[in-house]
Amino acid sequence: MPYHSLQISRIVQETPDARSFVLTVPADLSDRFTYQAGQFLTFRVAHAEGAVARCYSLSSTPGDGEIKVTVKRVVGGRGSNWFHDALKQGDAIEVMPPAGRFVLAAGTGPLLFFAGGSGITPIMSLIKSVLGKTRRPMRLFYANRDRASIIFDAEFQKLMQAHPGQLEIIHHLDAEKGFASPADVQAALKGFEVGHAYLCGPGPFMSMVEATLLQAGMPTSRVMIERFEASGNPAVPSEPIDDAEIVPAQIVIHLEGKVHTVPYHRGQSILEAARAAGLSPNSACEEGFCASCAAKRIKGRVVLANNEIYTKEDLDSGWILTCQGRCFGPEVEITYDTT
Ligand SMILES: Cc1cc2nc3c(=O)[nH]c(=O)nc-3n(C[C@H](O)[C@H](O)[C@H](O)COP(=O)(O)OP(=O)(O)OC[C@H]3O[C@@H](n4cnc5c(N)ncnc54)[C@H](O)[C@@H]3O)c2cc1C
Repeated sequence: MPYHSLQISRIVQETPDARSFVLTVPADLSDRFTYQAGQFLTFRVAHAEGAVARCYSLSSTPGDGEIKVTVKRVVGGRGSNWFHDALKQGDAIEVMPPAGRFVLAAGTGPLLFFAGGSGITPIMSLIKSVLGKTRRPMRLFYANRDRASIIFDAEFQKLMQAHPGQLEIIHHLDAEKGFASPADVQAALKGFEVGHAYLCGPGPFMSMVEATLLQAGMPTSRVMIERFEASGNPAVPSEPIDDAEIVPAQIVIHLEGKVHTVPYHRGQSILEAARAAGLSPNSACEEGFCASCAAKRIKGRVVLANNEIYTKEDLDSGWILTCQGRCFGPEVEITYDTT
């Protein structure tokens, strides 16, 4: 399995229901745990009904000298409560190497961030990766229930003092103003229209922000979204499927430098076919929104049953989510070795 054992070197109580877990990466794993700001780690969570995988974004940034995730408690949730209640400093936990595409696009323009609640974690990482390293102006619209639930409040104040003028924060507290509205988003957009926007937070918050930005004329290519949960939109296959279309009897999978030819059956996802053949590629949400199982198509036709990650350009350049990828035609070849 692609999990590695890392030790928790420190636990920080950020707010009453959010804790950061600082992890020690041993020297022999430092290459595997090299990451880009905005990426996430996948953890194996022990649970009475069987282990589950849970993703948590890195709230640290490369160069911080430590890697850190920040977990907010979800009422009744298996993973988040396990982090809060079962783990202590010094414990070892099972972690997959960093993954994810919520990273800074190349450019020098202004950056506009919209975060809601625990959605601040990858955005904190992105902001720290820019502060003091380039002069790109940044504005953060940060929505929370109330003042006590603002994660990283003190850390942001310190960062703003250390880098005066580069980062502006607009706090929005539901307790004082109700949920954020399109008018709030339009106000936050002023002066940042030519920049890139990065969104992470609860689904309804992100839908409202995205719709408002697009209506205001920001192109989709400049609006980046990180989802912590499936959007709930009905799944639309990436291409039309003809039920009579032939499927390959076997598919070729490149994984960790080896080439495997594995049996394939109609309706199977590539991930299922790989597992049935004894392979263990990365995966986490298995609903098409986390990209842990990303791969590239080399040959043949792969249709994604659900896709909340890739743009048309990504799909055209071969990116696939193997938990959602169904194979068609006589031959399909894909590779997990994309870097
Ligand atoms: C890429 C990515 C990055 C993420 N980064 C972060 C991060 O930085 N910080 C963070 O806090 N979170 C993050 N998340 C979210 C995180 O992975 C978990 O989804 C979150 O912690 C909830 O998981 P859980 O196991 O606690 O809850 P789950 O057990 O998955 O439960 C979620 C909800 O469903 C309800 N539920 C569970 N089972 C049932 C059932 N049988 N019937 C009815 N209701 C049920 C629970 O009561 C709960 O309200 C991220 C997710 C992704 C995909």
